[in-house]
Amino acid sequence: MTKLLRMPSNPGQAVAHEIALGFDVERVRADFPILQTKIHGHNLVYLDNAATSQKPKAAIAAITRYYERDNANIHRGVHYLSERATAEFEAARKTVQMFLNALHPAEIVFVRGATEAINLVAQTYGRATVSAGDEVVITALEHHSNIVPWQMLCEEKGAMLRIVPINDDGDLILEELDRLLGPRTKIVAVSHVSNALGTVNAITDIVQRSHAKNIPVLIDGAQAAPRLTVDVQKLGCDFYAFSGHKAYGPTGIGILYGKSDLLEDMPPYQGGGDMIRSVTFEKTIYNKIPHKFEAGTPDMSGAVGLNAALKYLNRLGMDNIAAHEAELLAYATDAISRIPGIRVIGTAKEKAGVLSFVMEGVHPHDIGTILDQEGIAIRTGHHCAQPVMERFGVDATARVSLGLYNTKQEIDALVRGIHNIRKVFA
Ligand code: PLP
Repeated sequence: MTKLLRMPSNPGQAVAHEIALGFDVERVRADFPILQTKIHGHNLVYLDNAATSQKPKAAIAAITRYYERDNANIHRGVHYLSERATAEFEAARKTVQMFLNALHPAEIVFVRGATEAINLVAQTYGRATVSAGDEVVITALEHHSNIVPWQMLCEEKGAMLRIVPINDDGDLILEELDRLLGPRTKIVAVSHVSNALGTVNAITDIVQRSHAKNIPVLIDGAQAAPRLTVDVQKLGCDFYAFSGHKAYGPTGIGILYGKSDLLEDMPPYQGGGDMIRSVTFEKTIYNKIPHKFEAGTPDMSGAVGLNAALKYLNRLGMDNIAAHEAELLAYATDAISRIPGIRVIGTAKEKAGVLSFVMEGVHPHDIGTILDQEGIAIRTGHHCAQPVMERFGVDATARVSLGLYNTKQEIDALVRGIHNIRKVFA
């Protein structure tokens, strides 16, 4: 059992001044009720964390508490419960601000998830700045969520989508980024961690190269926020998107961070209540940021649950979580690569949380289905990253994605399961 007692690298980020309690995976597992579930008579081994993570009691309890004690609509009421619900919602924004080390809570916009965050930027910043003949730069590593919104924008505007290629390891070829960044480039959108390969991209470097040409950068942090310390000021990025449900929070809530000067200048996203200061039939005056981007009743309980989840992560310490997952990833990669007939897809210099592979003569779906019989949950398919699959000449992979509660014993069970599959198909 690993027991690390390190403090977060940036103590200023420790939410609500909570002190990292250290990391004891068995104690951590007790915080996740679902991990006690038996699947087909076996202990659940949950290795599909990149799709969605399981929820700690603290987040589940916070949502229940919110509905039992605090629920009312926010921002509009003068009554006690409305004020209390508003305070809870805005407290969640403050926690996210500190989690990302953003300068100000107004830079945190609540959305449904990473997908909506990226669409918001494409539909507001993108529509306002991209014209015919302009270019949007993305990479060959992206999830469909960071491809399709830009493709739609380019189609609408007659602009061009340019793609930074990857090498055979799954690393971005950054010299190509330099070549692609030109006077017509209006934005660079890149993932922090690839959900299909686990590649950790050199974000600071990418931001510096882009900013040298005055081009803003959006980071899709869906896979980074749950497993790495994210400091948007250090990264220097202009936008950062992530989903609550992958970061041990509830579904239906996500975050768009944007630098305040950019958010101020952007047109609103959707129209409706809360995003306005005043409305007449002649003219609407929009609310200040971040409310300008939050039309309608938001997911209040989702924000409350996310608040509790992020505080939980901070109590464990993001550095401890990253170190735990790194140890498991190295252990799993070593064991799985030794199995005859296995090809690991994605061998980047820096990886986090994700191990994709294919097995000679066995379709990934069969691997997933057989492992499920032993209670082991992995994901198989194209992982919403079909261009990545195409680049590696496969139509699907089996993907193991780690969470903070996984153990070496679980990896051993997985490896035994894969050995058995090999025997059956040999
Ligand atoms: N970006 C990456 C890298 C992802 O892995 C995912 C989901 O798997 C998304 C974006 C989309 O996240 P959501 O479906 O929560 O909006």
